[in-house]
Amino acid sequence: MFILKSKEQLEKAITKAKKIRTKVRFLSFGNYAVKGTSGNFYTVRCERTATGERKVECECRGAEKGLVCYHAAAALSLHVGLAKQRQTAIV
Ligand SMILES: [Zn+2]
Repeated sequence: MFILKSKEQLEKAITKAKKIRTKVRFLSFGNYAVKGTSGNFYTVRCERTATGERKVECECRGAEKGLVCYHAAAALSLHVGLAKQRQTAIV
């Protein structure tokens, strides 16, 4: 689990996600399944905490140690797009 504070945090992970061309499956808003290198899927949860922080959780070992994994980066890029759509839908 890590708290997303800046885009820079994600840069390396995004580059990796693009290189690998991982697949992201939409489960529900804030919940995504991202394909790992061995063909398995990791569940990634993106949510806002009560204090307004962006919390990202991934099931992989890297994320357990607090690292920004490419699964999280891939899920976040989808999540941010969906969140924007939601906002415009409300307006
Ligand atoms: Zn991960």
